[in-house]
Formats: sequence, C-alpha cells, structure tokens
Amino acid sequence: MNIHEYQAKELLEKYNVAVPKGIAAMSVEEAVKAAESLPGPLYVVKSQIHAGGRGAGHFTNDKQGKGGVRLCKTAEEVKDAAEAMMGNTLVTIQTGAEGKQVNRLYVTDGVDIDKEYYCSVVLDRGTSRVTFMVSTEGGMDIEEVAEKTPEKITHVDIDPVTGMSGFHARKLAFALGLEGAAFKSSIKFFMSLYKAFVELDAAIVEINPMIVTDKNEVMALDAKMNFDEN
Ligand code: ADP
Ligand code: MG
Repeated sequence: MNIHEYQAKELLEKYNVAVPKGIAAMSVEEAVKAAESLPGPLYVVKSQIHAGGRGAGHFTNDKQGKGGVRLCKTAEEVKDAAEAMMGNTLVTIQTGAEGKQVNRLYVTDGVDIDKEYYCSVVLDRGTSRVTFMVSTEGGMDIEEVAEKTPEKITHVDIDPVTGMSGFHARKLAFALGLEGAAFKSSIKFFMSLYKAFVELDAAIVEINPMIVTDKNEVMALDAKMNFDEN
C-alpha cells in the first residue's frame, strides 16, 4: 500500500523527522488558503499522485509547461500553479505515458536548500534486516545512480533485534560528508526515521531529497512510504 507524500510527512513529523510546514488541499481555493496560513515568503505547490519524478514531469494539456512541483512567491502564484495542476493529468518517468490525474495538492513552505541528498530505509523480509541507503546524489533517480556510480551509495545494515545505535547514524553522516551542526542534525534525523520506520511497520521509506538547509538543518523535502498489504 502506497500513501501520499503529505500523509507520509504527517506520520514522519509525529516521530520528530523534520519536514517543511505544509497543508493538503482538495481545491484551488483550499490551496490559496493554505498558502495564506503558511509563513512564506516562498511556497511550493506539489501534485499528490502515487508516482515520483513530479518536478520534472509535464501535464498532458500543457506539454511544454512546468511540472508537478512548482515554487511560488505569492498567493497569486500559488493560485495559478494550483489551477494548472488540479484535475489535470501529470506524466512523469514513473506514471507511464497515460499519466495520473491530480486530485490533491500539498502546499508547503519553500526551503532554502544548501544541498540535496538521498536517504531510504528498506526492510529485507528474507534476512529481516533493515537497511539504510544514503547518497550524496540527492534528487536523482536512485536506480540510475546505482547503475552508473554505485560507489556513491552507502548501505548500513541494522539488526532489528539490537536496533539502531549512534554508531550506525554516524556512519551514515560520515558517508555524506556532513560536519558540525548539519552532522548533529542528521543523527537526530536518522534515529527518528528509524524509529518511525519500525513503529509504523513500513516496508520502504524513501526521502529524496533529504536536504541540509542554509541553517544547517537536515529535513525531508520529499517522502515516499510503502506498507505491506497485510
Ligand atoms: P519529485 O521527486 O516527485 O520530483 P520532490 O518533492 O522531490 O518531487 O520535488 C522536486 C524538487 O523540488 C526537489 O528535489 C527540490 O529541489 C524541490 N523542492 C521540493 N520541495 C521543496 C521545498 N519545500 N522547498 C524548496 N524546494 C523544494
Ligand atoms: Mg523527490
């Protein structure tokens, strides 16, 4: 079972995984209201579909136009972005040519990004181990990274019986070359993400990108979560 980005972020936030403030919207009016209640001065309007690659995608009624993730500077721009998305069909590398209709939006705070990273947690049912995967190549298609530059991906296995320790988290932070406040923030991020993963009984959590902000805070800008059917 797949859930939407905004639902995954609501769950993660409960476990103290840092995410930008955001509000789900079922209409253009709700999207504008959402923007008005966020602090600004930057907003991101995000199409909620069960597929990634939204930012680089396009709408079938505007093939040369912008994608399904748009940065806005005013509530007026949020309205335009919401109108361009709501009810229309978004095609991404993950939807197939037919695309997916956008019926929900997520309006979030725009964040000042210092650098983007990749982070995922996967349960291997066979070995019942939890594996963290991180990469400095954030925002990219991880399968492509795995194929072309596998050395840029670091795996850290965790035995669920003994759980995650600071040692595992530091290994992940070192692999990304993080230092100082960003290093410290990432430790909290990884530990919180692990707790969320285990307690929510998730099969996959993918944070792409995980970012370091201009204030050296580690955050999830995108979140995908998967649960087993049972
Ligand atoms: P997708 O992976 O489906 O394209 P993302 O949520 O990863 O969607 O968004 C695509 C890109 O948009 C991100 O890699 C990031 O650069 C930018 N972005 C997303 N959310 C924000 C935000 N809250 N603030 C600033 N930039 C963002
Ligand atoms: Mg993404």
